[in-house]
Amino acid sequence: MKPIQMVDLKSQYLKIKTEVDKAVIDVMETCAFINGPGVSQFARELEAFTGAKYVIPCANGTDAIQVALMALDCQPGDEVIVPVWTYVATAEVIALLKLTPVFIEVDKDTFCIDVNLLESKITPKTKAIVPVHLYGQCADMEAIMKIANKHHIFVVEDTAQAIGANYTFSDGTTKQAGTIGHIGTTSFFPSKNLGGYGDGGAIYTNDEELARKMKMIAHHGERIKYHHDVVGINSRLDTMQAVILSIKLKHLRTYEAARNAVADKYDQAFANHPKIKTPQRAKNSSHVFHQYTLTLCGVDRDALQKHLAEQGIPSMLYYPVPLHHQLAYKHHHNPADDFSISESLAKTVISLPIHTEMEAEQQDWIIKHFLAFCN
Ligand SMILES: *Cc1c(COP(=O)(O)O)cnc(C)c1O
Repeated sequence: MKPIQMVDLKSQYLKIKTEVDKAVIDVMETCAFINGPGVSQFARELEAFTGAKYVIPCANGTDAIQVALMALDCQPGDEVIVPVWTYVATAEVIALLKLTPVFIEVDKDTFCIDVNLLESKITPKTKAIVPVHLYGQCADMEAIMKIANKHHIFVVEDTAQAIGANYTFSDGTTKQAGTIGHIGTTSFFPSKNLGGYGDGGAIYTNDEELARKMKMIAHHGERIKYHHDVVGINSRLDTMQAVILSIKLKHLRTYEAARNAVADKYDQAFANHPKIKTPQRAKNSSHVFHQYTLTLCGVDRDALQKHLAEQGIPSMLYYPVPLHHQLAYKHHHNPADDFSISESLAKTVISLPIHTEMEAEQQDWIIKHFLAFCN
């Protein structure tokens, strides 16, 4: 049996190696390292895939959120609502821009923003909401957009973990993650569902004016070469990454199906176990399973992780500490807020290996040793 990894990027690469190697060498031979033709080609392909009118590639998923917020003309002190249970990047750029992150609790079943609490977080200073489509399925976007539109607030979807996920509205229409709010952002970090061979990210919007502005901000605030209209940043997707991502984008739906097959097999193996809660499916979103995250009940998690590691099985905790308990962010914690769900998740979640190259015997091994400990 091959060693088990959280994500097996090597086996995946070997299947597309000929095509990837050729594309990378072509970039080197043409020396079009920055803004080469492969970058705009990939942007057009991602527009076709997602249905977003405009895709602006950038250097990483964190910059994507930063550029999005910069384009909304926020003033220092403006408030941005963000889940307390997410990767730090989402809140980081809010704080970096001297905006105030306002943390909101998540739903214990979907791990995404609890929309029932959303209106209670809105004040006259609220400028934006940044829902995170955590682990691979969409937050309840219909409810979020309804509240945001009512209060004239922008919505920036963090789609770093959910590229390709489809959200279905109550009237039956379907839109892809990142194309529902005013702006969507994503990441091509190697382990993400559409991962490059280095850093990368992109911003989506259907708004022409926002697209123009964000493109400018990501390129030093430049309107035409050496004419800078606004203060911007330097955030570009390398041509080398773009050509690799173009190749991988063609396989994304197959990759998604492979991840779902792994998730389904885990679901069946752990179904109705009194100590294991399998990931719940949101009723209006497909799941692309960036992570397969279980919630444990009455299991010594440290001992479980040690037991798994001894059998060659890696596991991860996404996330061990919610944002309101992070040293850098705890002063943004409003003591009136109850984050007991996120606090409980931090103590009880565990993520198992899930990727496109999982072999049956590897997954059987994981399930066997996981259950042996929990039984
Ligand atoms: C990975 C991730 C990011 C940041 O993406 P980078 O490309 O690593 O900057 C942002 N938000 C979430 C939820 C992520 O998982």
